[in-house]
Amino acid sequence: MKVVVVVGGVGGARFLLGLKAAVPDAEVTALVNTGDDVWMHGLRICPDLDTCMYTLGGGIDTARGWGHAGETWTVKEELAAYGAEPSWFGLGDKDIATHLIRSRMLRAGYPLSAVTEALCDRWQPGVRLLPMSDDRVETHVVIDDPENPEQQKAIHFQEWWVRYRAEPVAHSIVPVGADEAKPGPGVLEAIAEADAVLFAPSNPVVSVGTVLAVPGVRDALRETKAGVVGISPIIGGKPLRGMADACLTAIGVETSAKAVGRHYGSRKAEGVLDGWLVAEGETVDVPGVEVRAVPLLMSDVDATAAMARTALALAGADLA
Ligand code: GDP
Ligand code: CA
Repeated sequence: MKVVVVVGGVGGARFLLGLKAAVPDAEVTALVNTGDDVWMHGLRICPDLDTCMYTLGGGIDTARGWGHAGETWTVKEELAAYGAEPSWFGLGDKDIATHLIRSRMLRAGYPLSAVTEALCDRWQPGVRLLPMSDDRVETHVVIDDPENPEQQKAIHFQEWWVRYRAEPVAHSIVPVGADEAKPGPGVLEAIAEADAVLFAPSNPVVSVGTVLAVPGVRDALRETKAGVVGISPIIGGKPLRGMADACLTAIGVETSAKAVGRHYGSRKAEGVLDGWLVAEGETVDVPGVEVRAVPLLMSDVDATAAMARTALALAGADLA
């Protein structure tokens, strides 16, 4: 069985762990958001790709949800001692080794997809991690300029999210470069050949939404013979972790499983979903989409695996 999953970072990685446990023999391809990627201190940082790689490769700091287990912060402290900005980003010593290799390979001319494959040689995530695109796409957020209240300014998504904790109101969220980006090698083929396509319970705007913004991806999703099923990251009108509500507000979508399901929309109309999993106890109607209510807390791998099995069944995949 071939399963394609659209993912961001923490929510995506946890879902992939459960999916692997549910169907260990399936060939799983993750289409990973790269809109969070950023250059810092001359290093190319790919937060969502790394979160997936470390989580599936057994190297993640499970309490924090990102970065390496047993991380140390010597380089970050030394950079701060020089007054080198940005200082608000958690750049661990072990993590820096990943970024050094990635940056060196990118500068040597390798595309991000090839770099990711090389890094995965070490981590053996057991899932094919495909960057959504090899082209540079960076999500920017338009906020009021704190230094000049008359004006607005665009800052990198990471700065808004990590430095400012998504507190300044986002007037808009734009995946800069997405218009001209091409899907990464294998992305459209994976969608076309899939037996099931799932949207992890990842951020609908800056994770799944960014992957959908790459030209060709939406059409491939609308055309694939596979069923397409999403899992809601919103339970009881709230995101589980993080500030996804601030992103949804910015694009004019209410923070509810119903509104997010309707935002993705039915493949029978102009949308991309056949099925939508919402949390137990919620009654949600999304026209043209089969909605099922199940436990949606990824509290452990078994609970996540059960969720993944329901999603696959709803997508019409043969689980026998
Ligand atoms: P990020 O890139 O690290 O922000 O991670 P993702 O975009 O992949 O996932 C973030 C989303 O995961 C948030 O909007 C959360 O609401 C959602 N999430 C986190 N834990 C759970 C969970 O246990 N169940 C569900 N359904 N969603 C979750
Ligand atoms: Ca992310």
